[in-house]
Amino acid sequence: MRLEEFPPADRQLVEPMGGGRLVYRCLGCGRTHGIEQLLYTCPDCGQVLLIEDQDFDRLRMRSGADWRRAFDLRRMVNRPSCKGVFLYHELLAPVVPPECVVYLGEGHTPLVEASPPLRDRIGCAFAFKNDGQNPSASFKDRGMAVALSYLRYLIEHKGAGRVLSVCASTGDTSASAALYGAYLAPAVASAVLLPKGKVTPQQLSQPLGAGAKVFEIPGVFDDCMKVVEYLADHYRVALLNSKNAWRICGQESYSYEIAQDLDYDLSGQVVVVPIGNAGNISAVMSGFLKLHELGIIGELPKLIGVQSHHADPVFRYYREEDPSRRVWRPVTVQPSVAQAAMIGNPVSMPRVVELARRYDDAAGERRFFVVQVTEQQIMDHMILANRHGHIVCTQGGESLAGLVRALELGLVGRDEHAILDATAHHLKFIGFQQMYFEDSFPPEFGVKPRPELVNAPVEAKAPGVEEVPAPGRPLSGEAFARFVEATARYIAQSLELEER
Ligand SMILES: *Cc1c(COP(=O)(O)O)cnc(C)c1O
Ligand SMILES: [Zn+2]
Repeated sequence: MRLEEFPPADRQLVEPMGGGRLVYRCLGCGRTHGIEQLLYTCPDCGQVLLIEDQDFDRLRMRSGADWRRAFDLRRMVNRPSCKGVFLYHELLAPVVPPECVVYLGEGHTPLVEASPPLRDRIGCAFAFKNDGQNPSASFKDRGMAVALSYLRYLIEHKGAGRVLSVCASTGDTSASAALYGAYLAPAVASAVLLPKGKVTPQQLSQPLGAGAKVFEIPGVFDDCMKVVEYLADHYRVALLNSKNAWRICGQESYSYEIAQDLDYDLSGQVVVVPIGNAGNISAVMSGFLKLHELGIIGELPKLIGVQSHHADPVFRYYREEDPSRRVWRPVTVQPSVAQAAMIGNPVSMPRVVELARRYDDAAGERRFFVVQVTEQQIMDHMILANRHGHIVCTQGGESLAGLVRALELGLVGRDEHAILDATAHHLKFIGFQQMYFEDSFPPEFGVKPRPELVNAPVEAKAPGVEEVPAPGRPLSGEAFARFVEATARYIAQSLELEER
């Protein structure tokens, strides 16, 4: 629908409100810094930052009901700047003018209810939010859309000149950064750093295809991250890791969409998110908090973070119930099928600590929890979900395994409804499915296939057929008829088909 066709009062709601005074807020010393410069850490104390709107109060002048109506009306408007995550313009990054919004089809991913047999088997109703249906096939596109829109604003309105973007990645950040960077070429060029052999072939092919410069670094993600931090500290580059606070803003859209899809009623809802570098869980908390502060939602959902026992520093931290006795200790990671979350020293941990405290305070009780699952459970649940019509990657399998664990622990009740973050598309991590089916996991993973979940192709080689077709050598006549009949009979027999 065209904007002119809305009644004037609604038109006002649809138009972005404008205004806002954004600053970087340091989570260490509490100082604020101007956003005209690209900052990733506090120049005074080195701690990570969050974007804060110092004029957030102007947003309270509109009622929760009017905000809900504004977001719902925007879904009807055909404008690129309303289509993606920028539908929530005022909450995400109001400094970015609509003409600078980079929209590649990100966000508004489907919420797919678990099939009834799967729901019954797990013992609680739940849905996957399929963030693998983003343009580069992971949720990272939400954050990248905002980070790159902001860069475009700096380039087009603030004379930033050409920008070289860099990131370290477990695979999906680089795929996303390279895609959005390529769209803005030649103003933006991308370089990505990957831990050699620790990203899937599909993930490696993505930045290569987008024309980024790809560097393979020995070690694991945490090592890449240190190199990229050195680059960002010493050279003129734009860092696109989730250390970049604009990424967090964009990923808040995940929470906004859940609220909108549930008509803003989050009572009895549980949101389950796998944790790696902890940017996403920070964004999800921050997003729900903003909705709550503006009266757009009345209740905060329960939040469950999930980690593999092979990379579980956040789980270990929160295992201690008494906040005053919690100690932060990075861990050395072991090989994990949830490779995108295989991180021992998450950069966003200070954000998690701050936001979890604010989350529980706002809820009036503890509502943020972290559970731990095994590699075996991750694989079993990924395959189980996909056998029921879902498209989850290993991290999505981790979300489901996490829900099962939270049910066991009594953190989630069987009468609650869960929304599981399916963070990337199944096909990005297909090699792990293959290892499961072929029982070829290296021993470090400790994964053994459950026979009832294994599948393999069958070569339909009918006995007694001498001539078979081959590429460039088709069969014809009698020989072809014999081949078709014998092969069909072979298949019918193996499927135990009845004749009609
Ligand atoms: C990045 C990523 C994660 C982990 O998210 P963090 O923000 O690093 O905690 C989980 N799953 C997938 C598919 C990812 O790409
Ligand atoms: Zn500081």
